Amino acid sequence: MNYYDKQIECMPRSEMEVLQGERLVNLVKKVYDTVPLYRDKMNAIKLKPSDIKGLQDMHKLPFTEKQDLRNSYPYGMFAAPKKDIVRLHASSATTGKLTVVGYTKKDIDIWAEAVARCLVMTGANPESTIHIAYGYGLFTGGLGMHYGAEKLGATAVPVSSGNTQKQLQLLQDFQSEFLCCTPSYAVYLAESIVKAGMTMADFNLKAGIFGAEPWSEAMRNTIESKLKIKAYDIYGLSEICGPGVACECAEQSGMHINEDHYFPEIVDSDTLEPLGYNKTGELVFTTLTKEGIPLIRYRTFDLASLSDEKCKCGRTLVKLNKIAGRTDDMLIIRGVNVFPSQIESVLLNCVGVEPHYHIYVDRIDNLDTLEIHVEMSDKLFSDEAKEIDKLHKKLTNDMLSAIGVSAKIKLVSPHSLARSEGKAKTTTDRRKGKL
Ligand code: ADP
Ligand code: ZN
Repeated sequence: MNYYDKQIECMPRSEMEVLQGERLVNLVKKVYDTVPLYRDKMNAIKLKPSDIKGLQDMHKLPFTEKQDLRNSYPYGMFAAPKKDIVRLHASSATTGKLTVVGYTKKDIDIWAEAVARCLVMTGANPESTIHIAYGYGLFTGGLGMHYGAEKLGATAVPVSSGNTQKQLQLLQDFQSEFLCCTPSYAVYLAESIVKAGMTMADFNLKAGIFGAEPWSEAMRNTIESKLKIKAYDIYGLSEICGPGVACECAEQSGMHINEDHYFPEIVDSDTLEPLGYNKTGELVFTTLTKEGIPLIRYRTFDLASLSDEKCKCGRTLVKLNKIAGRTDDMLIIRGVNVFPSQIESVLLNCVGVEPHYHIYVDRIDNLDTLEIHVEMSDKLFSDEAKEIDKLHKKLTNDMLSAIGVSAKIKLVSPHSLARSEGKAKTTTDRRKGKL
């Protein structure tokens, strides 16, 4: 099975743009009539629904932000009557108050189809068994992947997160070929397999579909070699639908966006001016077909770039390059911008340390300090002090040349840092309140 919906996934670009344009025109009319927030925003800039005639007018529309959702908590931005809403989800509230999203029956169907397309991109088919270790609940990860797997006709194993021993047993007993979880949990599972005295030969895993948090290419290499699988990146956010907004195909070079439903733009994060392909900026989405809570030019605060390069897989869907991080995850250390994913790359490219780390940022005597704790491998830990010292020096130098600020590296003993079952918390910024 090469595609879930070849007609859409391989549609000529000109046809896709016509389809998107028509959907946009209808969407704007609908939200103007049903959602006071949009009507007010458009009235404020004297924009009428009839001014939006196609994709070329997208830039005229006002942006939407998380704060708009918070201000209208819980149902203020819903465009469908409450009786048509069949499900609610909420963002994981990494920052501040919850944001709630509602789905109609049709929204759930489209989302499931988007995930089914993603699963096929990574090689799944109706015969596949798919182990889902994302959390089930208000978080969209578990149920999103679950409905997609069922839509495809595959076998969904709804394990949810936690209870690692049981996860291993089920992975072995059911011989699942696909594993869905966060990349940090995949690393934890790999470690637990070794600890349990098992090997990958005990399992039938072929691929992992990992997302919900930023992860570097170095992390991909680590996971692929530890679990002996292909590791694919999947992207999504609850405001747009959940997982399945975009996913990698066999090429593993950018995630095809399901752009007949979720229209992407990259904008300059300061001026909000649209940027072209291959330029990094803030990712913005317009949901072209959503009924429950349609979003227009929703600012994700995720930094990425888009590519319209022809893909060898045959899909014409635009690709989203790996997410560098969220603008609000970016650390500004002594005036230099640093992303946790850059630090992760340096650590994981170094032989002798494990993919378990934590970043501490502090302010001491008015000076920002960066301290990185990383676990030594068992081998390094049992090495002589001078070997450890050598590695410590190398890591300190590599880090400085990669991120441009000096960091204090602390090599800690194996298995001493906390493990994550969902989204990993890799950074503690202790400067808050000291500014
Ligand atoms: P919250 O904003 O509360 O974390 P979600 O659970 O909906 O809400 O998470 C969505 C966010 O997770 C995205 O905006 C993005 O920052 C991050 N994310 C999801 N998938 C990926 C991915 N594949 N790579 C990097 N970041 C991702
Ligand atoms: Zn492709």
